[in-house]
Amino acid sequence: MTDIERSKEVFDQFRTQYNTPYSIGDLTATVCTLCGVELPQQCAGTPIPSVIDQGDKLMDGVGKTQKVLLFCADALGENQRQYFKDDFARIEKIAGFRILSTSVMPSVTPVCYGSIFSGAAPCVHGIQKYEKPVLKVDTLFDAFARAGKNVAICAINSCSIDMIFRGRNVDYYSFRTDEGSFQCAMKLVAESDYDLIVCYMTDYDHQMHHHGPFSAECVEQAKLAADRFTAFAAQMDQYWKSYNRALVFVPDHGGHPVDETHGAHGENIPEDMLVNHFYRICEAN
Ligand SMILES: [Zn+2]
Repeated sequence: MTDIERSKEVFDQFRTQYNTPYSIGDLTATVCTLCGVELPQQCAGTPIPSVIDQGDKLMDGVGKTQKVLLFCADALGENQRQYFKDDFARIEKIAGFRILSTSVMPSVTPVCYGSIFSGAAPCVHGIQKYEKPVLKVDTLFDAFARAGKNVAICAINSCSIDMIFRGRNVDYYSFRTDEGSFQCAMKLVAESDYDLIVCYMTDYDHQMHHHGPFSAECVEQAKLAADRFTAFAAQMDQYWKSYNRALVFVPDHGGHPVDETHGAHGENIPEDMLVNHFYRICEAN
C-alpha cells in the first residue's frame, strides 16, 4: 500500500463512521487547487468540488486564487457551532460555504493540524499522539514555497502550529498572546506581499480545558473568533481587493465537557470529531 492509499483509508474510515463526505485532510488539496499549486507529495485529500467550482465561476478558471488567509481557531468544532449559534451564523454568512468534515484520531491539535496541512493521515505524517516534533512530510507550506509564493505563520509561542511546521521556507511570527497573532496577520494583509497567511487562535481551546466548553470564558472566545473572522474578511476586501482571494475558517477538532467545569477532546466521538471548514471565495474587484 502506498502512503496515499494508507491515508485515504484512514480518512474514509471516519467519513463512513460519521456519514460525512469530507475530511479535514481535504483542506490542503482544496487550497492548492484553488491556487494552481501542485499538491504536497503525500497529500491524499480531495479538492472540495463546490468550493473549487465557485472559484472557477468567479475567477473564470481553476487555479486562479492569488491570496489566502487561513484562520485556525482551535477546537471550535460542530459541537461548538450547535451551542454558539449566533457566532457561527455570522461566520457562515460571511463565508458562504460550510463544509462539515471529519477529524482524525487521536483528535488532538498537533495530530489534526498535521493532517490538515499535509493531507496525510497521522500514520503517514508521523504525529500520532500529543507531541510537537517538526513534521517530516511535505506540507501545504512547502508546496507554496516551491511555487515561489510567500508564506507567513502567526501563532502563539511554542504551540503546535508554531513548532511542527518549522524548518520550512516560511516566515514565522510568534507571540505571547492570540491578540498578537491576530494583529500581526491583520498588518501583514495590509502591508506585506505574503500570498498565504496562517493565523492561529488558541484561547477557546485553552478556556475549554480549564472552565468547560460552554463556560462564560468560552462564550467570550467564540464571539472573539467570529469577530476576528469578520475583521479578516473586511481587511482582505480592503487591501487585497485587486486579487482573487480566499479566507478559510480552519478548526482542528471539537470538544466535550468532562465535568461541571472542565472540557476535553481526543476521543472518537461526534463532539470531538466533527468540525466545519468555512470557505469565503472572492474574485478581484
Ligand atoms: Zn486543537
